[in-house]
Amino acid sequence: MKINRSVRFGIGIMAIAFAATACGGGEEKSASQSAADGTLTVGIKFDQPGLGQRNPDGTFSGFDVEVARYIANELGVKPEGITFKESPSAQRETLIQNGEVDYIVATYSITDTRKEKVGFAGPYFIAGQSLLVRSDNTDITGRDSLSGGKKLCSVTGSTPAQKVKDSVPDVQLQEFDTYSACVEALRNGAVDAVTTDDIILAGFAAQYPGQLKVVGEPFTTENYGVGLAKDDSETRGKINDAIEKMISTGAWEEAFNNTVGASGYPIPAPPTVDRY
Ligand code: GLU
Repeated sequence: MKINRSVRFGIGIMAIAFAATACGGGEEKSASQSAADGTLTVGIKFDQPGLGQRNPDGTFSGFDVEVARYIANELGVKPEGITFKESPSAQRETLIQNGEVDYIVATYSITDTRKEKVGFAGPYFIAGQSLLVRSDNTDITGRDSLSGGKKLCSVTGSTPAQKVKDSVPDVQLQEFDTYSACVEALRNGAVDAVTTDDIILAGFAAQYPGQLKVVGEPFTTENYGVGLAKDDSETRGKINDAIEKMISTGAWEEAFNNTVGASGYPIPAPPTVDRY
């Protein structure tokens, strides 16, 4: 009798402790659980033309936005159920780790360092690092022409900022929070070039025709993944299924043509999803 009572009491305590871990104490729902409730919070960029952009009327457009919506639909969430949250490059891992977003589609390269903190579905696109300069510039033609004190801009916490510091040690690198801030610095003459992925730069060049141009060959490979909680392999699998379906049905190509296509960036071959 005595034993039974204490066992029951013990189980009761364990149940309370379990409930507290599952629902309180800062623990967040998995992306699949949010989707089952009909809503998702998705991280995107707000300032990258053709990729992730918040328009003046409050709507969102771009290839990443289309990929985000396609995935949401496959998870059972309609466009009205999506809340987009701005996810600057340097904040992406933290936004995921804090549970502030269910997943991120924001020109987000899959890297081993980032994989220590977050998980990645995809890749859903492959880009490469390049350079954006003013149209009248003739002396910057590629990465090797950045030596000798050229003023370059990139974004804090991005892979291009890190890679250019590693490969051109004497470059004068200015780091901002967003690429649109770098593009402003380029247009007003504060910097000589902006570096990041070619697809991002192509969008800005198209926004300022006759003023800005992309130069040189891409010098890195950037595999864009969908970032999500590191251990959420259930949702990772579902997002990988969605990406494969988007590619195989032609929806991927259509989304690209309707967004990035306008910049003249040629459509590349779609990538193969990596299920790790
Ligand atoms: N793909 C690169 C990265 O994930 C550059 C683009 C960006 O900063 O969003 O860091």
